[in-house]
Amino acid sequence: MSLKTTTALGLHMPLHFLLKAEARTLSLPKVLAMTDLDAFSLFRRMRWGDGEEVTCPHCGTIHKHYFRPARLIWRCAACGDDFSVTSGTVFAHHKLPLRLYLAAALLYTNAVKGISALQMARDLGVQHKSAYVLLHKLRESLHPMGDQLLQGEVHMDGAYVGGIVRPENRKEDRADRRLAENQSPDKRCIVVMRECHAANDEGVGAKRTLTFIVKKETQAAMGKLVPEHVAPGAVICADESDAYDLLHAKYAVRRVNHSQEYRAEDGTTNNQAESYFSRLRRMQIGQIHKVSVKYLDEYANEIAYREDTRRWANGRIFNDIVTRCARTPTSRDWCGYWQGNKRAQERLAA
Ligand SMILES: [Zn+2]
Repeated sequence: MSLKTTTALGLHMPLHFLLKAEARTLSLPKVLAMTDLDAFSLFRRMRWGDGEEVTCPHCGTIHKHYFRPARLIWRCAACGDDFSVTSGTVFAHHKLPLRLYLAAALLYTNAVKGISALQMARDLGVQHKSAYVLLHKLRESLHPMGDQLLQGEVHMDGAYVGGIVRPENRKEDRADRRLAENQSPDKRCIVVMRECHAANDEGVGAKRTLTFIVKKETQAAMGKLVPEHVAPGAVICADESDAYDLLHAKYAVRRVNHSQEYRAEDGTTNNQAESYFSRLRRMQIGQIHKVSVKYLDEYANEIAYREDTRRWANGRIFNDIVTRCARTPTSRDWCGYWQGNKRAQERLAA
C-alpha cells in the first residue's frame, strides 16, 4: 500500500500516521454488529486469555469451573459461587448489553481529545447518568500499571486549572484576581512528567507520562514528587519556574526560559510537556467544560494515556482499554455512585 499522498501541487508528501489505513483497525459498525456471544467471547479473551481455565473472582481459584452456556455464567468448583465474565471488573453489575459497553470503549478510544458524558449519552441512547459513570470507569482503568521510574530525558511542567472567578458585571465591583484571597479555592496545578524516546529508539517524542495534582507548583512539591518518580541520572527539562531550582543538586536539569524563547541555545525544549497541556486544554475547553477538583486526577491521567498512545491504531487502543477494564477490579468510587457512594476527597499528590 502506498504511504504517500499527492498534494495540490503534485508533490509527494509522507502520509500522516493517523491518515493511514493502519490507524483504523476497528469501527463502530463492527462493534455494534456483535452478538451477545461475540461480546462475551471478546471480553472473556481480554480477561483470561484463550485457555479453557478462568479465575473465580470470589476465591481466586483457577480452573475450568462449571460453565452454564444458557446464562453465560460459571459456578466455581472450589467455593460454589456463581460469576460472570464481568464479575469483579469495572463492568460488574452492568445493566446494558455488554456490546454497548464495548461501543462506549470504542467511542472513548476514538475521541482523542476526550468525550463528554452528554455526547456519549446521545451517541449510545443511554441516560446521562449512565454515560457519566461509564466514562469514569473507563478513566479509572487507565492508571499506570507498575511503578517504574521515569528515565532518560524527562520533560516536566505544571499548569493551573479551576482558578477562574467570574468577574462582577460592573467594573467598580470587580476584585483584583491577582491576589490570592480573591482566587478560587478550587484552583489546582496539574504537574506532568514525560519520559522521551531515546535517540536510538524507534519512536519520537514522549513515551511514558505521569501526572500529579498539587495545590501549587512549588519547590516542596517538586522536591517530593521528582525523586519518587524519576530515576537518578535522568535529565530533567523544565521551564524557568523556581519550583525546579533545588533539583539541580540531584539531577542534570536543563532550562528553557519561555518568556524569551521556546528552544534554549543548547537545544533544550520542554515541548513534550507543552504538547500534553495543549491536549488537556482542548479537552477542558471543548468537551468537559467543568472539571471537578475531586476527579481532576482522572482527567489528567486520561490525557496522559491519550498522549502516550497517540501513534497507536484505534483497534490496538481499544484492545488495551478493554483489557484494562477486564483486569481492573470493581470500582469503589463508581459502583453505586448515583446511590450516594461517592469519593470523599480529592487526590493530592503533594
Ligand atoms: Zn470460587
